[in-house]
Amino acid sequence: MLNKISDSIYYLPNQDDKERPTLGLIHGDQYSLIIDAGNSSQHAKDFLLEIEKLEVPPVKYMVITHGHWDHFLGMNEFDATVIVNSLTNGIIEKWKGYSFDDQSLQKYVSTNQMSDMCMKTIQNEIPNRENFKLRSPDLIFENMLTIDLGNKICKLERINSTHTDDSTTVSIPEEKVVFLGDCAYGTTTNSLFHYKQSLLLPMINDISKYNAEKFILGHESICDLNEMNLYWEELTAASKAVKSISLEDALKSFKSQNNRGPNDNEIFFIKAFVNDQILKS
Ligand SMILES: [Zn+2]
Repeated sequence: MLNKISDSIYYLPNQDDKERPTLGLIHGDQYSLIIDAGNSSQHAKDFLLEIEKLEVPPVKYMVITHGHWDHFLGMNEFDATVIVNSLTNGIIEKWKGYSFDDQSLQKYVSTNQMSDMCMKTIQNEIPNRENFKLRSPDLIFENMLTIDLGNKICKLERINSTHTDDSTTVSIPEEKVVFLGDCAYGTTTNSLFHYKQSLLLPMINDISKYNAEKFILGHESICDLNEMNLYWEELTAASKAVKSISLEDALKSFKSQNNRGPNDNEIFFIKAFVNDQILKS
């Protein structure tokens, strides 16, 4: 079932056991717009079935928030104009050349071009994959794009992100809602999970400009302003304590800066910022 945020905004919650991210739906008087295509044909079909139950205007647009497989592999199922920023387009361009038979999938996994989870999802949730080829996006933008769905303005923007360089957000200013995709998360490089420390404050600054009150995240579904602010405060406090590759020094700094020890979230973030220092060193 779709969750309703307002009369014109809905989302299909994330489903972690199937590596399915949150998918969004916004409609105006004329058209509907979808945020993210789902991780497979089956995920996309499940979403389309739910959309059919609502009486909303036709789906004319789809925005892919970034070039991670779980957000775009369902895109062939939608008869919509697919919109991406130019960096995401570059990533999808590579996937368009992929074949989806078992032998090819195994090859991509063994050469680290694809995760094991991705291969399993494709095998289980994309039928007729012997002949499957990913379609092309239709509309490529650089930094910003505004779409009017009929008395409903959506703003697409490529922003600073600790997750990927190609993160697009979709905000609906009139409703104080923003779809963040995965942009506020960390990332994994050389098996190390880290948050890009240098991009944390620019990202918080970019997202704060939306003056949003509801935030939809790729693998969390919805956060209100208090939850989002707490997340930023914990991340910022953790980041301030990390100046080197020493976890011990970071924990000491945290205590002296905050007059208390870090909570579990903060410890997780401190470790991720230390990993970022390790990757830079
Ligand atoms: Zn992602």
